[in-house]
Amino acid sequence: MPHSTELLLSDLISERGHSICRACGSRDLKSVLDLGSQPLPSEYGITAEETLDTFPLHMRICPNCGLGQLGEYVLPERIFHDTYPYLSSASSTWVDHARKYASLMKEKLSLNSDSLVLELASNDGYLLSEFQKIGTSVLGIEPASNVASIAREAGVPTLTEFFGAEVAEKTLSRYGHPKLIVANNVFAHIPDMHDFTEGMAILCDENTVISIENPSFTILLQNTLFDTIYHEHYSYLTAHSVQAVANAHGLELFQVDKLVTHGGSNRYWLGRSKDKSDTVEQTLEEERSAGLFDPMKWMDFANRAKASIDGLEKWLIERKKSGGIVVGYGAAHKGNTFLNAVGESSKTLKYVVDASGEKQGKFLPGSQIPVLEPEKLSSADPTDVLILPWNIAEELADRIRSLAPKARIWVAQPSLREL
Ligand SMILES: [Zn+2]
Repeated sequence: MPHSTELLLSDLISERGHSICRACGSRDLKSVLDLGSQPLPSEYGITAEETLDTFPLHMRICPNCGLGQLGEYVLPERIFHDTYPYLSSASSTWVDHARKYASLMKEKLSLNSDSLVLELASNDGYLLSEFQKIGTSVLGIEPASNVASIAREAGVPTLTEFFGAEVAEKTLSRYGHPKLIVANNVFAHIPDMHDFTEGMAILCDENTVISIENPSFTILLQNTLFDTIYHEHYSYLTAHSVQAVANAHGLELFQVDKLVTHGGSNRYWLGRSKDKSDTVEQTLEEERSAGLFDPMKWMDFANRAKASIDGLEKWLIERKKSGGIVVGYGAAHKGNTFLNAVGESSKTLKYVVDASGEKQGKFLPGSQIPVLEPEKLSSADPTDVLILPWNIAEELADRIRSLAPKARIWVAQPSLREL
């Protein structure tokens, strides 16, 4: 991992997300939850003793536009560099979601062989390959060079770039206006939301629609999903903040769909001169009535998050005392936030198994718990398996039952429960 000083901003902490709202520019950000200083979730330890760089993990909210946000301490090049070890196609839940999404979009937008589907942060190309199967032209733009190469090898045309206005101009002159621009689970990862949105606006004519999927901040608040706060998520989107940013670039939010992904996500539709669906005002109203702009609701959220962290810590201590062999399943980012918030007791997990060969043999950032292959479960006879990526818990539980039929299976979010 490159730890060169030019990739650190710690000495010149950006005000964006820290004291200035990155969506609306308000200087009135309020602290919601301080999770201390944690390592970056994609920087795995090579040894158990390794000391990794840590950075503040402190979420604030803008009372003006409702955007949740983290300050910037590290350049995105360090977070999303070419060894970023997450491959979307490793999860069957996500591949299934991609297949349904492509088919829905084909029907809704009457896509055909003349239609270009552009995906921003296209990862290993798993979503675009579904669009290829239904016969559209595709183009991916992906900043992580290793996953971009995997996409190209699979036959998905992919540019290795960080997307923004400059890249949009080049893309427009070479490929023209896309029919669909997909920015799923990426908008939160962009420190400069305005440059990114300006790029989408450059590529968007009256025949283009932009589809942005992102976890719902209202559900994060209601279900206390504090473990989805990590450095890669600079922003926690709301319909209020998406609308504010879109309008600043001549785009309109014209529809919001509700999805079950990531515990509850919104699909925001942006475009030019579109009929506005009632779902926009409904979502804005739901955000207000859920307490998005109510400091007391956020104080309750922080207290519930702390109770959840204490609850997992007590459970781990209790399992250790009773002589249990407790292991984790899924080396997910959200698990790292949770385990690092729990602290020393997280080491009760003897190891965590994960299907990604890139993570096996390494150590979880911060907790330094070893990552092993899932097959280890069948020989090690664990008493308890804690699933860390709770959003795909059912998929993983089936796998655990086949590998370790005697083990009790647990999920820690939204509250600790046995499956
Ligand atoms: Zn704001």
